[in-house]
Amino acid sequence: MEVTEIRVKLVEDRDEKLCAYCSVTFDDCFVVRDLKIIRGNRGLFVAMPSRKLADLCPACRAKNHLRARFCNECGHALAPDRAERDGEGRAKLHADVAHPIHTAFREELQLQVIAAYEEEAQRADEPGYQPRHTDLLDTDDDAGEPEPPPAPPAEPVEPIEPPQDPPPSEPEPDPAEDKPDRRNFGEGILP
Ligand SMILES: [Zn+2]
Repeated sequence: MEVTEIRVKLVEDRDEKLCAYCSVTFDDCFVVRDLKIIRGNRGLFVAMPSRKLADLCPACRAKNHLRARFCNECGHALAPDRAERDGEGRAKLHADVAHPIHTAFREELQLQVIAAYEEEAQRADEPGYQPRHTDLLDTDDDAGEPEPPPAPPAEPVEPIEPPQDPPPSEPEPDPAEDKPDRRNFGEGILP
């Protein structure tokens, strides 16, 4: 499988650990959004799109984030540290929604994404840089929001016939409100 396009949206604050969001297209036919490029202790890495893990309240069966200490629904106290731990002892609070299965492809993807990021970061240093792909910013909680449909082509505007009498070049100074009159002007001509 080939990566055929990578779109990168840099995060404004370059001091943040989160450097950019990106979307990746595979074989010109499948897009995965919401990958993140993160600056870790050992350099840049790519985080796959993920969702927050939740579990069920033992009292009312409502869903709660694993970090919640009390049930959102009934207020029942929830066990602290109930998240599973990974090999390095960190609480597992998120699960990938899309990810490579093989290390080789993971590394290949990561190389390409980081190269695309570095290219974009270089462009950002040039004068007159215009960020592209601002649509990539939505992530986490509002992920999955559908994109708005493409704007319809602008309808041809029918030429408006000029009014028969040219308007006075300068409206007479009128102490009374002249706005209503001006609004009426042209009525019946404009749709
Ligand atoms: Zn509950």
